[in-house]
Amino acid sequence: MMGSHRDTETQRGALSRVPVVRTRAEVREVVREARRAGRTVALVPTMGFLHEGHLSLLDQARAGADVVMMSIFVNPLQFGPAEDLDRYPRDLERDLELAATRGTDLVFAPGAAEMYPHGAPGVQVVPGALAERLCGASRAGHFQGVLTVVAKLFGIFQPDVAVFGQKDLQQATLIRRMVDDLDIPVRVEVAPIVREADGLAMSSRNVYLSASERERALSLSRGLERARALWAAGEGEAAALRAALWSTMAVPGVEPEYAEVVDARTLEPVERAAGGAVMAVAARVGKTRLIDNAILP
Ligand code: AMP
Repeated sequence: MMGSHRDTETQRGALSRVPVVRTRAEVREVVREARRAGRTVALVPTMGFLHEGHLSLLDQARAGADVVMMSIFVNPLQFGPAEDLDRYPRDLERDLELAATRGTDLVFAPGAAEMYPHGAPGVQVVPGALAERLCGASRAGHFQGVLTVVAKLFGIFQPDVAVFGQKDLQQATLIRRMVDDLDIPVRVEVAPIVREADGLAMSSRNVYLSASERERALSLSRGLERARALWAAGEGEAAALRAALWSTMAVPGVEPEYAEVVDARTLEPVERAAGGAVMAVAARVGKTRLIDNAILP
């Protein structure tokens, strides 16, 4: 294991990597320098194990600011006790090389003790009703952990703009709401979902899937495509769209968790699907929990 890892590092020796810092103080120093030079700062928060979806956020960040920074932190606060914190995939060297291909200026990769020197913070960001629906229904405390770490990252970087992915639509909606409700001076942008050629939404967790699970995982994006086609053909009843989503996902080896048509702002279920409404699904494929969504045009 170690040997093969070292071999890969040697092979990659010629590739450039992004400068990486481990402490909040170093980030503050780099940001201070950038500001002194009159440059704007963009932040792309991630948990690493980067794929093309993450890299698309870097591109969007680059379009909106002079300096692009990424954080890579597998945030323990947002994982439940029965979730995959310990086995979540990590490969910082590879991430630094991938981030370099998009001209990233700095990566902040702190350890848990740097982010939470006193253990779990005593003061946290408590989301309201928006966090109880969809993924929140099965992941108690998840969005509180997400908002708390994102608020900390906003405090550390004080970015002009922060870019998130539509892939985690409920998360992006909650972050927008947090920034609005707490008057945090950052512009939140949400970038479209990047998919594999066959439609599967890219996710760091896709690496968990066996070949047969990978095939079954397509039932999520296929359900969204099917429901979108129904809608385009004139079906406006949310119940009919939900049924199409659910039945496409209900195949052996896939355990649907939810299939909903919701208002994009409130995430409340709608009865009739107008343009702008969101179709959102979650399912377990083997042990892996996957999510996907589509906004109706
Ligand atoms: P994660 O590392 O999974 O926490 O994701 C970090 C950021 O990348 C979040 O804002 C995600 O929504 C975004 N992201 C993850 N997967 C994709 C994807 N397939 N397309 C676009 N953005 C994504």
